[in-house]
Amino acid sequence: MTRDQKRLGEFELIAKYFAPLAAQEPGAFGLKDDAALLRPKPGHDLVLKTDAVVSGVHFLAEDPPETVAQKVLRVNLSDLAAKGATPRVYLLTAALPADVDEPWLKAFAQGLKRDQKRFGVSLVGGDTVATPGPLTLSVTAIGEVPSGKMLMRGGAEVGDDVWVTGTIGDAALGLRVLRGEDIGLSDKHRAALVARYRVPEPRLTLGARLVGVAKACLDISDGLIADFGHMCEVSRVGVQIEAGDVPLSPAAAAALAGEKASLSDLLTAGDDYELAIAAPPSARSRMTALASQAKTKLTRIGRVVKGRGVTALNPDGSPLRFTSGGFTHF
Ligand code: ADP
Ligand code: MG
Repeated sequence: MTRDQKRLGEFELIAKYFAPLAAQEPGAFGLKDDAALLRPKPGHDLVLKTDAVVSGVHFLAEDPPETVAQKVLRVNLSDLAAKGATPRVYLLTAALPADVDEPWLKAFAQGLKRDQKRFGVSLVGGDTVATPGPLTLSVTAIGEVPSGKMLMRGGAEVGDDVWVTGTIGDAALGLRVLRGEDIGLSDKHRAALVARYRVPEPRLTLGARLVGVAKACLDISDGLIADFGHMCEVSRVGVQIEAGDVPLSPAAAAALAGEKASLSDLLTAGDDYELAIAAPPSARSRMTALASQAKTKLTRIGRVVKGRGVTALNPDGSPLRFTSGGFTHF
């Protein structure tokens, strides 16, 4: 960061807002060394993931700093969940434009602190730079999984069931609300959708329990159809989804009933951060038991079939047509 900025200098800023978030983790050395140290638990592999969020792309400039913090951390934790990993530590790179002031940073650090407690992770390092561009935050999360057991996109086989956690399509509707679109819902429903956009829920408890049970898993960030498509590609299979079985929140169901969103919109909307899972039919009761232990909603929505790519069927058996393939940046 340049010296002429009005807020604290780089080192003061790190000491004041970030070092307290690293205080509990000995390998962070109080953020006073060049690098952090991590000793994996015996019998475990480390799982590494990085994801950045950019103001105006992944969050809105007016979003509360606490939820921006939660989002950048949680989108990474969601990927660890999909790999069956338990998160341990993370690094944070913050590229700050001049208009990010201290109250913003303080609230941002509070959001991180709250989620560190909730998910049992600690900050161990990062980088802080100034940027002429939009506020950009990148987290690298590191978790552990029993050796050789990481869940992957490949591994789904013809005849497997496909499952999904939580509810689908909420975050994209929440973004439409934040953009000022009239989607005709009650205040309560609109608030629920906005919360789903701003603060995703990484399915860590269930993800860890899927190790050794699920055959393939990934998290849904580009849209249910696109992300099952990624599973299909790597697993070299097709997936057939019963569109009417895809779980919707009361708010998304209301938007559908009010014709403010189609089923196709909801199934191709991004930012769900739910898990897309393939598991053998022999594991059905086990899957249901794991979900109830993890207190996570889990719904069987279709099966793995021969071929490639994802098809979705309407309740009358006709194929559902998609207006978009899913979210892509380029
Ligand atoms: P270097 O000069 O080697 O790039 P820095 O001065 O950038 O080191 O960082 C000093 C220390 O502060 C390091 O331990 C680094 O990991 C930590 N640090 C810098 N920025 C952040 C941040 N945004 N979040 C957490 N730790 C940070
Ligand atoms: Mg640096």
